[in-house]
Amino acid sequence: MDQESGNFQSISECITAISAAKRIVITAHPKPDGDALGSSLALKYALEKVGKQAVATGLEPVPNRYQSFVKSGDIISVDEALAIEADLIIALDAGSIERIPKELSELKGRVKLLNIDHHISNVGFGDINLLDTGSCSTGEIVYQLLMAGGYAIDQDIATLLWIAIVTDTGRFAYSNTTPQAMHTAAELLKYGVNTEDVDRKIYRQLSKAELAIRKIAIQNLEFRHEEKIAFVTLTTADFDAAGCTVSDTEDIIEIPRCVEGVDVAVLFYEDKGNLGRINISMRSNGDCDLAELCASLGGGGHAKAAGCRVKGSMSDAQEIALQAVTARLR
Ligand code: 5GP
Ligand code: MN
Repeated sequence: MDQESGNFQSISECITAISAAKRIVITAHPKPDGDALGSSLALKYALEKVGKQAVATGLEPVPNRYQSFVKSGDIISVDEALAIEADLIIALDAGSIERIPKELSELKGRVKLLNIDHHISNVGFGDINLLDTGSCSTGEIVYQLLMAGGYAIDQDIATLLWIAIVTDTGRFAYSNTTPQAMHTAAELLKYGVNTEDVDRKIYRQLSKAELAIRKIAIQNLEFRHEEKIAFVTLTTADFDAAGCTVSDTEDIIEIPRCVEGVDVAVLFYEDKGNLGRINISMRSNGDCDLAELCASLGGGGHAKAAGCRVKGSMSDAQEIALQAVTARLR
């Protein structure tokens, strides 16, 4: 664990806070990915096993690829979560307080907030912060927490933590694939994770709609700055034509990213539920620090994977973001 952060609290402080709590709301960042879903549900299951009331919210819509790993009733609405009158809120994999449901962040000061995360841009917005930028995923931190607290892990919990690690490391390929990530993954396998099933459902199985949006993404691929920047644009019309939603965009960014010679890949997409702003995802193949770049645009993330939202039209957002990338590639 990274002990250097001024906001770092020890695992034992987190365990003390969890032990004292009876009703716990667990939440993560919007448009949840494998780490947000996996770490949240794994923690929920582990806390339920020791008799806590633990609910998960703010995790919808669940992307198609993860649906079979989520049981009915696992994720409830924010209103239902508020109704349990929690004495502890745990925010997972959310780099900033704006990234958790507003109704929950507004409880800060009245309900204890525990912030567990691995994003470099996280300033420690919780009352207690368990931050480790050296962890490949929030799931890895949750594993350490469960081990340190003596919480039991079973096959379902191990599978969810495995999903968190596999997806955030790009199937053990990205530079965050540390010895500790591999060690944690190896420990999880002892609980009987069906790796083949997880891999097939998450990476080798596309609905017709997911295939259609990928086709459109390839057609919409453009380049800038001597082809060092590759970007894809997806409008609400594109989502309608494909018959899918923004939750099915999780690795569309890999399409511009995998082109030879590309340093930075960008995905610009509209969200029907939030018109008037453009969602931006970025991935770096080189040295361009996207956590810093996206933070300068009001977002955040990791050095090699970050995001932000820009108010205005698609062309305005593209102008702003592509200029910011170009300036950093010079
Ligand atoms: P994605 O492109 O998959 O949406 O996000 C890439 C990474 O950056 C993820 O780890 C995500 O949590 C983080 N991220 C995306 N948007 C934001 C944002 O607005 N603020 C912060 N702090 N992190 C973000
Ligand atoms: Mn993560």
